[in-house]
Amino acid sequence: MRTVSILGATGSVGTSTLDLVEREPDRFHVEALTAYSDVAGLAAAAKRTSARIAVIGDPARYDALKDALAGTAIEVAAGPRAVVEAAARGADWTMAAIVGLAGLEPTMAALSCGKSVALANKESLVSAGSIMIRAADSAGARLLPVDSEHNAVFQCYEPEPGRVSRIILTASGGPFRTWSREEMRPVTPAQAVKHPNWSMGAKISVDSATMMNKGLELIEAHHLFPIGADRLEVLVHPQSVVHSMVEYIDGSVLAQLGSPDMRVPIAHALAWPERMQTPCQRLDLAAVGKLEFEAPDFERFPALALAKEALAAGGARPAVLNAANEAAVAAFLAGEVGFLDIAAIVAEVLAQYEPDAPEILAEVVAIDAEARQKAASVMRRIAA
Ligand code: NAD
Ligand code: MG
Repeated sequence: MRTVSILGATGSVGTSTLDLVEREPDRFHVEALTAYSDVAGLAAAAKRTSARIAVIGDPARYDALKDALAGTAIEVAAGPRAVVEAAARGADWTMAAIVGLAGLEPTMAALSCGKSVALANKESLVSAGSIMIRAADSAGARLLPVDSEHNAVFQCYEPEPGRVSRIILTASGGPFRTWSREEMRPVTPAQAVKHPNWSMGAKISVDSATMMNKGLELIEAHHLFPIGADRLEVLVHPQSVVHSMVEYIDGSVLAQLGSPDMRVPIAHALAWPERMQTPCQRLDLAAVGKLEFEAPDFERFPALALAKEALAAGGARPAVLNAANEAAVAAFLAGEVGFLDIAAIVAEVLAQYEPDAPEILAEVVAIDAEARQKAASVMRRIAA
């Protein structure tokens, strides 16, 4: 019996994780569930799983959650501190599935307990990668990659130094893979969040459409599999069947394949080092028929180029990139800026703001806040 906590339990990854956990009640016991605003979804999940504690990030929703869980033995708490404290309860296995840098402190709290942390929250690793990896190592925590590409690499990767020559992250190319820049200019949030293969939260869906997602994933891979930034590549693969590949010095290439369902990589991380059953559709390659691959287009997808540059430069560049992107994507989803503005805003913030490399968590948080302010002022100018 293992205890499990899910940070971001009401989101796309969070609900997929709950689905798996709930199928094996004799194997997993839920410790903490957290969410930001969805009181009804959080309360229902906490009741179904008899969680020990449910935490809502928005402090104004404390009473609503308390009412929804009245008459149960489930503890209730609210606010950002309470989310961090829930993460620090140290379940045997914690899913870090909060979206954005809001997940950084909770994920760090979970890592400090020295147990297993399944990482979906890529933004934290992008902005604070070295600090997070150091914290995980010193606490003896095990980071299990959940992002489908990184989970695929994890399944194919031999960590002995000198063996791997390249890691190839596959990318679907998103909904605008074949579109010209002019065709992309007027796209709406509704068009951008409609991903051809995966069903995901709004932020990552927009990141997939700009291909910033693949850029963030290059930086994520650099921290999880430190073979050198110049050995990480992106390959567009519209069917999303090959989830990534590892090339060895002898020329062998290992790949992990599967239907595009996040429950596959989540189940791998949940059962690791064992395996578990999932209800996921089995891969039928005869039905898929054809697998296609093409080189990424850095001109039509400049966000990918910006992320590659930030990866190569290192230091604070990835944190600035991530913060500006989070701010720009939120503004795009709110209808305040256009689709092509997202990468333009990120480029401008990167050009304006070059802080020193962060050494500690508080410096990452400060760089993130400053970069968001710079993004806000760029956006005010665009809107004017
Ligand atoms: P989502 O928007 O569906 O869910 C986000 C979750 O985080 C929700 O439970 C929400 O309540 C919580 N949350 C948001 N802001 C918060 C805050 N300020 N404080 C506390 N909690 C907060 O997002 P998602 O698609 O599930 O993605 C979650 C993370 O996983 C992201 O980092 C994303 O990049 C990564 N990821 C997602 C997928 C996918 O298929 N959805 C795949 C790979 C990686
Ligand atoms: Mg991914």
